[in-house]
Amino acid sequence: MSQTIFGKILSGAIPCHKVYEDERVFAFLDINPLTAGHTLVVPKEPAETLDALSEESAAALGRVLPRICRAVIAVTGVRDYNVLENNGAGAHQTVAHVHFHIIPKPGHGEGLGLGWAARALDQSAGSELAAKLRAALG
Ligand code: AMP
Repeated sequence: MSQTIFGKILSGAIPCHKVYEDERVFAFLDINPLTAGHTLVVPKEPAETLDALSEESAAALGRVLPRICRAVIAVTGVRDYNVLENNGAGAHQTVAHVHFHIIPKPGHGEGLGLGWAARALDQSAGSELAAKLRAALG
């Protein structure tokens, strides 16, 4: 697997504005922020998408994400924010290394904009789908 831009940041080959680091997790400012404080939180493990990530890295990310969110809130003074994690080019992932965006939302029209074309769940289809998912989870 060729190294991604985040792999190069993790190895120190290219610079970044580092925000946090521990044994398994690294965080830095997004180079093209949607709003001030837009931060990326990445596992050091070079998994391309979340489903490929080890439980150890996932646990390490989950443990520290709320803390980094609190720091972003404290420093920006912006209470509302989105956490976004894209998987696959079709889902707007441009860097093939798992990363969580923390994006402050100062107000309407700023930060992350969402298209959310939701439709009511068909109850019988939902029941069948949930059963299949439970089976897939083992
Ligand atoms: P995504 O579309 O979810 O894959 O987001 C990739 C993000 O990585 C974008 O928001 C980019 O602005 C950001 N990005 C790309 N290269 C760099 C870099 N060298 N340093 C910091 N952020 C970067």
